[in-house]
Amino acid sequence: MTDRFHQYTDIKKLYSLSNSNWDYAAEAGVHGCVFEPSGGGRLQTPDGRSVVNMSSYSYLGLDEHPQIVAAAVAAVQRVGVLNSSLSRVRMTLPILEEAESELSSLFDAEVGTVNSCAAGAWATLPVLSSGLLTGGIAPVLVFDKRAHFCLAALKALCADETRVVTIPHNDMEALERICRENRAVAYVCDSVYSTGGTVAPVAELVRLQEKYGLFLYFDEAHSTSVVGTNGRGFALDIMGSINERTMLITSLNKGFGGSGGAIMFGPRGDLSVRRAVQRNSGPLMWSQRINTAGLGAIVESVKLHRSAELVRLQEQLQENIRHFDEVVESVGHGNTVPIRYIALHSEDDTVNVSRCMLEAGYYVEPDFFPIVKRGGAGLRVRLRSTMSRDDIDGFAKALDGVLKDRPENRAAAVHGGF
Ligand SMILES: *Cc1c(COP(=O)(O)O)cnc(C)c1O
Repeated sequence: MTDRFHQYTDIKKLYSLSNSNWDYAAEAGVHGCVFEPSGGGRLQTPDGRSVVNMSSYSYLGLDEHPQIVAAAVAAVQRVGVLNSSLSRVRMTLPILEEAESELSSLFDAEVGTVNSCAAGAWATLPVLSSGLLTGGIAPVLVFDKRAHFCLAALKALCADETRVVTIPHNDMEALERICRENRAVAYVCDSVYSTGGTVAPVAELVRLQEKYGLFLYFDEAHSTSVVGTNGRGFALDIMGSINERTMLITSLNKGFGGSGGAIMFGPRGDLSVRRAVQRNSGPLMWSQRINTAGLGAIVESVKLHRSAELVRLQEQLQENIRHFDEVVESVGHGNTVPIRYIALHSEDDTVNVSRCMLEAGYYVEPDFFPIVKRGGAGLRVRLRSTMSRDDIDGFAKALDGVLKDRPENRAAAVHGGF
């Protein structure tokens, strides 16, 4: 018998392709930075300068919301422990029950929490692969090629339960072919892709679900809070409500302004999927829960998601996106997703431009393989509702200045992509 390694991962190869770029970015001071948040989405650098954070995941600025921060502090003090140090499948804190019940009501779905969205993927994907959620038939597990790291990292584990297939990005014809040829199929994707530019074709996926019984699995980390009624997210808002052949995971660390990750198991009140996941695999079973500070933050953030303030923040974000598009050309231009990608000429150029931008007062994340595909290096901007017009105009002007002497980058910025 021959061993067949590297069917799904090859860390040594990854290292050889990316490590010098990480080193270069660290030397340039744009990777591994230690910055202090200083309010209003700004960062304080170690040498005392205040810079605008142009790459924060906190799309609505809720990470700094005083009510959420105060609720986190109050929750630890009220409960009296940060962690209760016993697996939740044995015993649960009332505040955990409260947080999950509030989230279930907000998303109109049966919701459980874990320490991160990544832990949510780990808790659910192997169980989905097993067939426990699809009538006992292990589904062919189809991944979109651009599905997030936290999903792709589980391919090897899932492949021990079922057949795992990766299809080109958003290739609905390939997916339909697989649906036609197999009794059970599950599709795993991001609803909003984290490097910008694209979203899942949700309406088409729902059509395949209705026609073939396709199981849909969405990672909503970039759209929860950001879009949809009460911040229900991109896929859930289009679907109207979750059904028993759909599961979603999301992060509560990003737009939501809380802590941890959430799993939407299916229709509210249906405990069967939650039990199957909780009893058979992953961190929901054998890892500790979100701590009480995080749970307090979640309960408070749910209140905010039900208020007019959320609507105002969502609208302000859309206005900032529109204004950004008026002054900066980027991949993703014109869509409602708060992520914009400025493709540049090379990895080194990307790091250099990021360094110049930091000197000009703007932190913008330099990306290269494996964050984006090889040869696709560039800057990733994430817009925030709490950015001012001046922040955006200042960024545009500084970027123009930095790119002025780099005509090859200017061409890439307009025409580049993935
Ligand atoms: C950031 C991100 C995650 C990870 O979220 P955590 O809660 O920090 O684990 C998962 N999926 C996508 C698409 C992301 O961008």
